[in-house]
Amino acid sequence: MPDPMATWPGRQNQRRPDSSRVLRHQHQDVGDKPFIVIWECTRACPLACLHCRAEAVPDRDPFELDTAAAQDLMRQVAAFGHPAPLFVITGGDPFQRPDLFELIAYGKGIGLNVAVSPSGTPTLTADRLQAAHDAGATALSLSLDGSTAALHDGFRGVDGVFGWTLDAWDAARRIGLRVQINSTVTRDNVDDLPNVVQLVREHGAMLWSAFFLVPTGRGRVLAALTPAETEDVLNFVYDVGLAIPAKTTEAHHFRRVALQRRILEEAGDDHVAVLGLGPLYARLTARAAELGLDQGQRRVRRPPLDVNAGRGFVFISHTGSVHPSGFLPMDAGNVRRTPLVDIYRTSELFTGLRDPDRLGGKCGRCEFRTVCGGSRSRAYGVTGDPYAEEPSCTYVPGTFPHQDRLAAMLPATA
Ligand code: SF4
Repeated sequence: MPDPMATWPGRQNQRRPDSSRVLRHQHQDVGDKPFIVIWECTRACPLACLHCRAEAVPDRDPFELDTAAAQDLMRQVAAFGHPAPLFVITGGDPFQRPDLFELIAYGKGIGLNVAVSPSGTPTLTADRLQAAHDAGATALSLSLDGSTAALHDGFRGVDGVFGWTLDAWDAARRIGLRVQINSTVTRDNVDDLPNVVQLVREHGAMLWSAFFLVPTGRGRVLAALTPAETEDVLNFVYDVGLAIPAKTTEAHHFRRVALQRRILEEAGDDHVAVLGLGPLYARLTARAAELGLDQGQRRVRRPPLDVNAGRGFVFISHTGSVHPSGFLPMDAGNVRRTPLVDIYRTSELFTGLRDPDRLGGKCGRCEFRTVCGGSRSRAYGVTGDPYAEEPSCTYVPGTFPHQDRLAAMLPATA
């Protein structure tokens, strides 16, 4: 049988393509153990962000997992075996819990790698970040939805958040915490993204994540991008991957874009023409060039990791219900009654979401489905069916021109 790569023009002597250089595959068996567990430790938060998934409230819920129940949850996470999944404490605002440092220390003590995702408030002082680090937290994620106070504070609903966030970011870096910056992308802030990337480059971060709205929580009222605009931004995120480590959240088709762009680069094709990129992409790349973001200093891009809802990813709500994603409000049980390991490995919802053959619409016919699969949360939010096709993807299955090359780079199964 002929080598499919022999047909690749001018590439006969190059190394066989390997999707692991473009995408990062999970090392563990995804049906056995998640890569990451996110725990919403409270919904209490002093902010009123426009897009809040949790629809956060000022006060803590009496039905939250208390300290003992939270420690039990962490033992359930450790029961997946060594190395344990990454354990992220989110909210609401985790700093609203007086037992936060005790819980971080407990998690570290039983072998978890604990990260914290706080809100940018005046309580996020250098002393409290130091205490989180001393207790054992290794990383911090912060939200930054605009490059100016006017943009970010407007989004977050409280004046001063931009300054508090920048102060906490710099303090965390000095302390030795690794920092991830998350930016929600809407039609109102999308043209500011190059300036946000510039800020990330100046202040330093282990990762920048562009978050694409899911119509759930308060995010229902925000102006999401059109599918064509989403495509433009995904390609922009790919471009700036040589300026900063960049990824997407709830835009799993970024993995399709990463593969397409790599193949088109190797073929010498014009990605703008082949992928049909539009005026938003032109504006973003022009601004990026003005800022020198096209003069990337990184040797290679960070390959996107192939996690998806229920496939390497678990979300535990403040009351202990278990979800495939924080943006997919279907639950598969509760850690107060059923071990998390059992829910993850055997529940109908989680096993179904790990099966690419369950996908419907064009995602079910798509050659990229084993590495992409689309946002199951957005599919559910728009249609009520978690297996429906991704509403924000423009790709028409089978239309990418270099199918032989692509087939050689895709895994046979996810
Ligand atoms: S059609 Fe679905 S599986 Fe294919 S690239 Fe788009 S979102 Fe991914």
